[in-house]
Amino acid sequence: MAMMRRFAICLIAALGGHAAVAASSPRYLAVIHGTVVHPVRPAGDAIEPDATIILDGDRIMSIGAASAVRVPAGARLLDASGKWIIPGLIDGHVHFFQSGNIYTRPDTMDLTAVVPYAQEVARNKARLPATFKVWIASGVTSVVDVGGPFWNFDVRTAAANAAVAPHVAVAGPLISMVGDPKLELDDPPIVRTDSVDEALALVARLLPRKPDYVKVWFIHRPGTDLAAQEAIVAAVGSAAHKAGVPLAVHATELETAKAALRAGADYLVHSVEDEPVDGDFIALMKRNRALYCPTLWVHSGYGYAFAGLWRPTAAEARLADPQILAMMAGIAHLPRDLLPPRLTKLLDEAHAPPSPTMMLRNLKTVHDAGIPVVMGTDAGNIGTLHGPSVFREMALMQEAGLTPLQVLRAATVTGARAARRDATSGRIVPGQTADLVLLSADPTVDINNASQIYRVIRAGHVYDPDELIASIR
Ligand SMILES: [Zn+2]
Repeated sequence: MAMMRRFAICLIAALGGHAAVAASSPRYLAVIHGTVVHPVRPAGDAIEPDATIILDGDRIMSIGAASAVRVPAGARLLDASGKWIIPGLIDGHVHFFQSGNIYTRPDTMDLTAVVPYAQEVARNKARLPATFKVWIASGVTSVVDVGGPFWNFDVRTAAANAAVAPHVAVAGPLISMVGDPKLELDDPPIVRTDSVDEALALVARLLPRKPDYVKVWFIHRPGTDLAAQEAIVAAVGSAAHKAGVPLAVHATELETAKAALRAGADYLVHSVEDEPVDGDFIALMKRNRALYCPTLWVHSGYGYAFAGLWRPTAAEARLADPQILAMMAGIAHLPRDLLPPRLTKLLDEAHAPPSPTMMLRNLKTVHDAGIPVVMGTDAGNIGTLHGPSVFREMALMQEAGLTPLQVLRAATVTGARAARRDATSGRIVPGQTADLVLLSADPTVDINNASQIYRVIRAGHVYDPDELIASIR
């Protein structure tokens, strides 16, 4: 009889359908007994044990000591005993037009004989809802796509309308000093502009789409005219600024980075890689109030992949897109006769890439000088997988000498500035969006513990990362 009754109740619930369930689901969620980490606060004051956080729909309503915060009647409870709670992570440097797999950058390694580039692009587009879930599973509730095709604007709309997705800010096509013909299908991610007029014409096509950034791919090759290039960047910057849009720049050499800053860059999405940063660089960064995203892992991702040495970390094995993991494992089994000789040579040599020593050193200098640092992966590049590559990146930031709390600050509070939503995210305070991550280990003793994801809350919805990944297998 008891079993009969239980069956009847289940049946009624099923017949009631989704609308009935939603109508009866409580408005409030109380996350109780967790240890909250506040990256915005100084180290001595950053940890708040046994806290209660009340979420009202997609907003944080209140937070405080369990003894001081009243849990509203009927609130759903989420027990966070033994867990650490951080603001949702923010990746300040991603590209949705790239998948992270070995077919995604034929300009870097041409494997189109194995998988044509058009097929890879179509796969990425179809896979977008899964890619969004991967980001959420990794605790990343906000990302900044700093350059891709015009399709990027559709990605932003898709994220805003998706059932499960991070907040997405986007730049459109990269305004570039050089072309990249192997990536040029009908909607190229990189557009070569040779003059101020050409660059301004592209900016004029971008601005009606309301980009969150205008982005320049500032590739300065020896023998090209740096001053003429700087003039193009300056014209782009002032057109963007006039429209209230900040200027993001890819510039990886000290001289190019300084030229970008003189031209008005607000956001450098890469480290200075070739030599130590100097006083001029720091002064220009401060003048512009520019953000610095060191993007430390990305080159190693390529290096390990092409050497046949790329292996998933524990976090990647658990949280990355299973399709991409399978493709990464497949590199060892590709038909040799279809591979470029350069790749077969690299696979045979099997050298691990060097540690990014100069970038680590420059990050420490820049950080110690008080420049705001953003965590960003360049996800989508080969070997830098959407989602869990944030843990590779944060580990390198810690290796550079930042404390775990400083790394978390880059990945939340300062990341929110890069995402242009610091008024609504990056901190656990009333009024902000309810983007939180519950961890099973203390991220303030070792940033690698940030990968121990227990639950992710995005705009008030609670997700189990393992269920998210199971749903896209
Ligand atoms: Zn990038």
